[in-house]
This record gives sequence, structure tokens and C-alpha cells, in this order.
Amino acid sequence: MTAATDSNQTLFDRARKVIPGGVNSPVRAFKAVGGTPRFVARAHGAYFWDANGQRYVDYIGSWGPMILGHGHPAVVEAVQRALLEGFSYGAPTEREVELAEAILQRVPSMDMLRLVSSGTEAAMSAIRVARGATGRSKLIKFEGCYHGHADALLVKAGSGLATFGNPTSAGVPPEVVQHTLVLEYNNIEQLEDAFKLHGRELACLMIEPIAGNMNFVRASLPFMRRCRELCSQYGALLVFDEVMTGMRVALGSAQSVYARDIPGFEPDMTVLGKVIGGGMPLAAFGGKRALMEQLAPLGPVYQAGTLSGNPVATACGLATLKETGKPGFYEELSRKTKLLMSGLQTAATAEGVPFSTDSEGGMFGFFLFPELPQNYAKVMTTDNARFNKFFHGMLERGVYFAPALYEAGFMSAAHTEADIAATVAAASEIFQTL
Ligand code: PLP
Repeated sequence: MTAATDSNQTLFDRARKVIPGGVNSPVRAFKAVGGTPRFVARAHGAYFWDANGQRYVDYIGSWGPMILGHGHPAVVEAVQRALLEGFSYGAPTEREVELAEAILQRVPSMDMLRLVSSGTEAAMSAIRVARGATGRSKLIKFEGCYHGHADALLVKAGSGLATFGNPTSAGVPPEVVQHTLVLEYNNIEQLEDAFKLHGRELACLMIEPIAGNMNFVRASLPFMRRCRELCSQYGALLVFDEVMTGMRVALGSAQSVYARDIPGFEPDMTVLGKVIGGGMPLAAFGGKRALMEQLAPLGPVYQAGTLSGNPVATACGLATLKETGKPGFYEELSRKTKLLMSGLQTAATAEGVPFSTDSEGGMFGFFLFPELPQNYAKVMTTDNARFNKFFHGMLERGVYFAPALYEAGFMSAAHTEADIAATVAAASEIFQTL
């Protein structure tokens, strides 16, 4: 295809004139992997079609929300019905209550929650509640975890535990991140040192329990146990950012996965997004009643939103959660994810390509390393050129994995064993050339 006949390229050229980088969220621009981003014309089930009419097996699913695949009939019907009843009211609705009840039933560590429109908003608001409730300012986050683009969270590690973070984005004043301490994921010793130094000033520790923003790296059980113990000991709140893992890795989200091995395990607050909105702008943050009652109009912590709990978004979220609540849903999703991972592993091993995989429920990651990495620094030692070759080879063969090596992948209920077999066959061809 020449540039003149490539509708993706034509659209990208047009887009770049009116939208910075041609995209409304940076990773879509293919900057990490090079080449022309695919402009999606439509999607159905496990596939989407680009502007040239090329079909792709979709393993990003809008970066997680599309757990049922695209255009699930029950969800489409619920959204259509909701649309006819009005787009937005700015007054409360029964559906918001129903969705809150459905989420709380699945994630019982929360007594109450509030609905918002994006994961960024939810994480930012959870931190505000944590600070308001504890009367403390400082917080811990981990390198490689992403919690949205709120100023205080766009931060990388300073030069030591005594120095707090440095902004990772222009436009974030250093004073705004001066309360954010960035630590290495899965490093217990550093965690203990940080609490020894700053424990009594910490409002919260925010963590992606299974980090999906450095590919797929889980917090080890000893590390998670220590996070819980130290937060309790020092009176800091343990905040789980489950925007990606929430109802994606299990019905009860990642916290239920940890509770299997750590009896009674619970975070103090949880941040959700993606799946709970089924592809519509919807997210939530919640926790124990005493914490959530700090929020306005009951308490002194202010937070609000014109489109929060939007009636169309809540209809979409409710219909999605109803499907995921059916018996065996996560078992089947998990079986297919494992099938894909074991297929890729076998194909890589057969060609002598160092490879490792991990997955939970419908979320997965694979690495061009023989062993699973434990932190961001290790993930970032991936051979970029090799990853890009793999990515573009798959794309040419009609398989769309995340266009960056530090992103997780997502299975949906709509993917078939035939899709998985075709993916593995395509990968096998590429592994021969790596
Ligand atoms: N937290 C996590 C773990 C995420 O993966 C993301 C987005 O990918 C966010 C927060 C921010 O969510 P949003 O993009 O909806 O603002």
C-alpha cells in the first residue's frame, strides 16, 4: 500500500494538523514502536477494522474495558434504552445506586463509593480523601505504576529516600510533587526504610497490585503483606489502584486474588475504572464508610463532577457487570488467557527466543526475557528493536497487541480458540525471525 492509498496515513496526517500528535492519548500515536497508528472504523466482538478495512484481533480492548468484546448485544440494548431516556440530568438516578450496589457486592472491602468519569479523577480524589482523613500530606507510589495524570502523580524517584520525587511532565511544579515518594516495586527493604523515615507523615500508599503499566508485574505476596502491615502500623491508608485490574483479573478484583493467600487481606480504599464502565467514561473510588463520609456534602473533602454517574455510562457498566457475574465467566476468560500465554511460550521456546509470561483472569503480559521481571527498571531493559519487530509483525498479520512494551494485554469473552490459534501461528512465524 502506498502512502496515498493508506487511509490510516491520510487520517493521521489530517489529525496531526488539529490534534497534538494526531491523538487524544499519547500511547495511541505509536511513538514507541514507530509506524502509522491504525484509525479504527468499527469494532465487533474480538475484532476491530481500521480505515483501510483491515481486520485485527484486538488484545487491547480499549486498554481494558471491553471485557465482553465489542458490541455485546445485552450492553448495546441497555445503552440504547438509556439513551432514549436522556443523556445526562445533573440529578441523581436509581441506576447510580444500582451500579454502586453491584460494585460494592463484588468488592466488599468498600462500604461506599463515589462514581466519577475517569481513572485519573478517581485516583486523584482517593488521595484527597486519604489526605483529608489522615490530616497528612505525604504519599508513596511505585516506579512503573501509573495512576492517571494528576499533577501529584506525574513523578519519578528523587535521588534518595530523604528526597521526594521529581516531576515527569513539564507543567508540574516541583512543589506539587514534593510530598510524593517514589519507591521501587517489590523492594521490601526500601519500603521499610521509607516507613521508618516518613511513616507518621504518610497519608497513603497507592499501588497497582498487579501493575499493568509496566507490562504485567505483580506485587509479590511478601511485598504486599508488608505494604499492608506497615500502613496499618503507621496509620497510613493502603489504596489499591484497580482501574485496570478491577473486575478484569477476577470478579472480586486483584484484592480478592491477594486475599486467597493473605487471610483477611483488604486495602483501605480502592480506585476502579475501565471494566466497570464497559467502555463508557466511568470510574469510581471507595472505601470504608468513615473515610468516604469525609466527602462533601457530608464532610470537608470537596469533590464533584457534572457528568459523574452519567445515566448512559451507568447503564453500560451495569449491563457489563451483569454479564461478568454469570457463573463461570472468569474461569473461561482465564482459561483462554492461559491458552494464549502457553501457546506463545511454546512457540517462542521452539524458536529459542527467551520468553516469559504471566496472567490473571483476562489480563496478561509477556516478556522477551527468560524470567519474569519484578520491577520497572528490569522491564525497561527489554530490547526495544526486538519488541517492535514482534509488534509490527503481528500487526501485519492482523493481530493488535499494545503498541508499547510497558503495557499489559487483555482477553475478552468474545475471543475464540480459533483467534488464539491464529495469534500463536502468527507469533510463531515472527519468532523464527527474532
Ligand atoms: N490507574 C491505572 C492503573 C490505569 O491503568 C489508568 C489508565 O490506564 C489510570 C489510573 C487512569 O485512568 P484514565 O485513563 O481513565 O484517566
